[in-house]
Amino acid sequence: MTQDHWTAVDAYLTDTLVGPDPALDTALRASATAGLPSINVAPNQGKLLQLLALVHGARSILEIGTLGGYSTIWLARALPEDGTLVTLEVDPRHAEVARGNIAQAGLADRVDLIQGPALETLPRLSERGHGPFDMVFVDADKPSNPEYFRWALRLSRPGTLIVVDNTVRGGAVADAASTDESVRGVRRMHDLIAAEPRVTATAVQTVGSKGHDGFTLALVTAGPAE
Ligand code: SAM
Repeated sequence: MTQDHWTAVDAYLTDTLVGPDPALDTALRASATAGLPSINVAPNQGKLLQLLALVHGARSILEIGTLGGYSTIWLARALPEDGTLVTLEVDPRHAEVARGNIAQAGLADRVDLIQGPALETLPRLSERGHGPFDMVFVDADKPSNPEYFRWALRLSRPGTLIVVDNTVRGGAVADAASTDESVRGVRRMHDLIAAEPRVTATAVQTVGSKGHDGFTLALVTAGPAE
């Protein structure tokens, strides 16, 4: 199997089951025109996130890593009209493009985009009246994944679903001796999850237009220890 084959299968699956979507297609075009990297989730993955949020009946979602707002739009569409999605983005240019994309998708009323380094904005969410969240999607700088997982847990309740993207990293995640900071971040996060009695978790490998990667999913089953 080659990358071309995976890309062709993703194109078939997306054409057949996801279909064209003017707001999402416009968001991708605007992001490319603005020079943003094409590191958003693939369309079939975006729809998977939306289905997870719908199955879960999520009314509040936290996203760490907005880029141009592509996954934000997929997730925010799963919310009821009075639902909220908070998305955190460090890069002012990405944030500006995302704001435009979210507005043109008609979702500005339910999305709160907070610009700044997530490890500085996460501690302020409670005072802004946000949390606990029903679902958290982690998709930012991978070396910080252990801290993002800790924050996701802090901002959760029993029943919260935490989804982390890019946790297989072309298979490099299996290499305990890796010196790659992103791989090390993902592995440290998995160690934390494995040792955390308040969650039950799994991870799945994926192949597709974005290469060989995967998602980690953790369901919060209990609140903080008394
Ligand atoms: N979730 C997006 C999607 O699928 O459409 C893709 C997000 S992209 C993989 C990662 C994003 O995280 C980038 O826009 C990057 O600027 C942002 N990021 C990186 N470090 C960050 C940090 N410390 N705090 C907040 N955002 C960060």
